[in-house]
Amino acid sequence: MERKIRFAPSPTGYLHEGHLLSALYVWAAAKKWDLSIHLRIEDHDRGRARPEYIESIYDDLEWFGFRWDSQSIQSERTSIYETALKTLEKQGLVYPCYCSRKQLEEENPKSETGEIVYQGKCKALGMTADAPHNLRVIVPDKVITWHDMRLGDFSENPKLQCGDFPIRDREGQWTYQFAVCVDDIDEGITHIVRGEDIRSSTARQIALMRLLGRDTPPLYLHHPLIVDPAGKKLSKRERAHSIRQDRDAGISPEILLGRVCHKAGLQSADTPLNLEKAISIVVHSL
Ligand code: GLU
Repeated sequence: MERKIRFAPSPTGYLHEGHLLSALYVWAAAKKWDLSIHLRIEDHDRGRARPEYIESIYDDLEWFGFRWDSQSIQSERTSIYETALKTLEKQGLVYPCYCSRKQLEEENPKSETGEIVYQGKCKALGMTADAPHNLRVIVPDKVITWHDMRLGDFSENPKLQCGDFPIRDREGQWTYQFAVCVDDIDEGITHIVRGEDIRSSTARQIALMRLLGRDTPPLYLHHPLIVDPAGKKLSKRERAHSIRQDRDAGISPEILLGRVCHKAGLQSADTPLNLEKAISIVVHSL
């Protein structure tokens, strides 16, 4: 089987330093483990995705010199998501949920990480009238054990982390959790390298992939994020500061690559790096 990794940015803004770091990890993992690279544009959120952001993803990546073997964009894959939804429906694993944001907040407990753990209120209601609703998947009440190549072993029960979770929202859009699982299966992704901020989604994604028929999950590595000197994640303002702005200001790719590696603690000095060197520094950290 082909071994494949993906880089999966959401075009809800221009790429920023956090994306650049993620891309470096993905290309480094591909180099280290001899994987082909798939670029997936995750534009499932039609309200926030914009054509200029999509264009700039291709353009910024190419400007740095990143190259990939295949690509896809979620907005062109509706029929694949519909088929996957049917697969779940046939197993009786999908139900509409009519709860408002306020009800969700008031009626459900929160997990240790502050996430709402949906208790399944709408599960027994069945499909009624045309009231606005999302669709939830019934997750098994089962501990998922999985291994992160950097962080070690995890045992997590998605039923206690989030409960039955939305796969399609009230506007009829596929959710991130659903689209990402369908794509990782359909596109034959064997390795997932992404930021630590998404780590807590892994157990539910493995559970959903199983329900969709993929028993062997991909291999995972969640990389550290860029933090400020106080150890906090990139602020909204820093995230809003885009590669595009730096490019427009005449800053070179080498300066940005060096700076990101420095901020991520991958090189001690803030000196420029070409792409090959930046990737090899990350390879050695894996
Ligand atoms: N689209 C997500 C993001 O830009 C990444 C999803 C993933 O790697 O699973 O944060």
